[in-house]
Amino acid sequence: MLESVLIANRGEIACRIIRTAQRLGMRTIAVYSEVDANALFVQMADEAYPIGPAPARDSYLRIDRIIEVAKRAKAASIHPGYGFLSERAEFAETCARNGIVFVGPPASAIKAMGLKDAAKALVQQAGVPVVPGYHGSKQDPDFLRQKAYEIGYPVLIKAVAGGGGKGMRRVEKAADFDAALESAQREAASAFGDPRVLVEKYVLAPRHIEIQVFADAHGNVVHLFERDCSLQRRHQKVIEEAPAPGMTPEMREAMGRAAVEAARAVGYVGAGTVEFIADGREGLRPDRFYFMEMNTRLQVEHPVTEAITGLDLVELQFRAASGQTLPFTQDDLSIDGHAVEARLYAEDPEKEFLPSTGRLWALEFPEDEGIRIDTGVEAGAEVTPYYDPMIAKVIAHGATRDEALSKLADALGQTIVAGPRTNTAFLKKLCEAEEFRAGRFDTGFIDRNLEALGAGPHPLDEVAASFGAAALISREIDRLRMSEHLKSDEPSSPWSQPDGFQLLGTRSVGMTLRVDGERVEAREVFSSRHRGVSTVAVGESDPWADEGIDREVDASHGVYIFRKGRQTLVQPYDPFDVDLEHMSEGGTVKAPMHGKLVAVFVQPGDKVEKGQRLAIVEAMKMEHVLLAPSDGNVAEIAAEPGAQVAEGARLIVLRAEEE
Ligand code: ADP
Repeated sequence: MLESVLIANRGEIACRIIRTAQRLGMRTIAVYSEVDANALFVQMADEAYPIGPAPARDSYLRIDRIIEVAKRAKAASIHPGYGFLSERAEFAETCARNGIVFVGPPASAIKAMGLKDAAKALVQQAGVPVVPGYHGSKQDPDFLRQKAYEIGYPVLIKAVAGGGGKGMRRVEKAADFDAALESAQREAASAFGDPRVLVEKYVLAPRHIEIQVFADAHGNVVHLFERDCSLQRRHQKVIEEAPAPGMTPEMREAMGRAAVEAARAVGYVGAGTVEFIADGREGLRPDRFYFMEMNTRLQVEHPVTEAITGLDLVELQFRAASGQTLPFTQDDLSIDGHAVEARLYAEDPEKEFLPSTGRLWALEFPEDEGIRIDTGVEAGAEVTPYYDPMIAKVIAHGATRDEALSKLADALGQTIVAGPRTNTAFLKKLCEAEEFRAGRFDTGFIDRNLEALGAGPHPLDEVAASFGAAALISREIDRLRMSEHLKSDEPSSPWSQPDGFQLLGTRSVGMTLRVDGERVEAREVFSSRHRGVSTVAVGESDPWADEGIDREVDASHGVYIFRKGRQTLVQPYDPFDVDLEHMSEGGTVKAPMHGKLVAVFVQPGDKVEKGQRLAIVEAMKMEHVLLAPSDGNVAEIAAEPGAQVAEGARLIVLRAEEE
């Protein structure tokens, strides 16, 4: 076995790789960017080295720095994980040149599969079916329009160098072709530096089904069955499962064979995924699936394959990389039950799935049997805007699909993430959606059902707001009581109790809250019936109604209330949030009060939008978020994080953006 491994990645995948490497007795070496210095994967690794600032291009994409660390730490091998450098042939080559084992396929295989058009031509020669279309080099609009006509609408225009759904346009009719082509080429040029596209038939009722393949360096290639990743949003996977619902033994056999052929065609070694698209209009049929592309790396969704096969794919990767022969043949493999994975993201389904950053005030997952959690963060960590905002993968394994989906829904129901907004409730609804449960779905399922799945704006949760306000008040009372107790001669006297004690009847006092960022008026109600405990009414909600909440999580700036799967942030109304507008005239953001500058989220030169979080000042044990008063560029940062700042001190200077 390899003596050591440097993990050229971060987050959950780095943790995942470290776990297996350590079990195999390997020395683990992490590399990290400035914002990841305290990350879980850095703590887990035996050694860790900084490689640069937060932006990936200055750290996780720096081949030179990573190789330098590998040499310094005497790493025997490098595992690239997924994303970042995992599919860069140049990286594999550089490792080889420096005598470091690259835990992945040969550079030639990465290159061969790197461009969609060349990959298609190659596998087609090996007898693998591809989507009817034009995969050639001509890019002239008239020619491509003619090809689209021959293929027949609807067609899909795809970037040759594409990935992550970028540079992809579905075109319904000839009249729309030119505009779609132009915008696909523009997007492809800016995302991949390569404007070339291919045109292919848009498969109707498409199901995304991929085959996990595995090869050793001695010519043995097997497949580890399929995964169905049809639940997508914007061509990005949301829920993945294995095996695929409705899969027949004939179709599995045909797809498995095609995938193994595709891998053989490029001399593949290690773990790879061959992605197919299947026409699902009449169920899955062995003559209606087509090669899309091959991912020459470990896949995000590999845990579902591990669950149904009982294999550890990362262990197999290390074994293949160290030259060992595959310990099994195709006939030794079988499927055990069903597994489903949900990608838990810090994003807000109520606001068009915008990424949501910030500190994780709580992060709790159930520890049920058949549930696996792959995560790279813990409570207290910060979700930063620099990387993919995935918080965790929640994986459920059961005897049947129904059991696995129920377990996953349960696990999501018990998951608590306080702080950033997440898609937890959305994922749970997906697992419970009737049509999906019945196996009737395709890649358009999520888009067609967004509203039913709870995406889109929701009204303020008044009940949650009332509970939150009551929690804030009792927190304040506790604090006062502590100090009153210390002072009072008669601590148990009702006159020493700083509550809203009311001898008879009901009294109500107005109060102002900030609920999910909005200013909300509430009434604090004191009643003799509820001695010592006041209650709060927000809007039309009945303060005495018998409604409950699921969970309350305290944060320094307020309280997070969980109710019916939603999170509501309730804060005392802080007039400084408003004053800030006045204090930031001329684009200068000043400290709203004496305190400590605990965090600055921007750097000089950054472009910011009005309302964006710039920094946090902590004062009187409360955090005050400073927001950008207008759009602009950060011209100056006048104080270091950690510094004590005086009220009115200049902290950040914004310059209005030039037209
Ligand atoms: P990328 O590399 O950008 O992720 P892919 O080629 O893997 O692009 O395709 C991403 C998704 O787009 C697929 O999972 C599928 O949902 C959809 N898709 C791709 N090709 C077709 C097609 N010919 N017809 C219908 N949908 C397609």
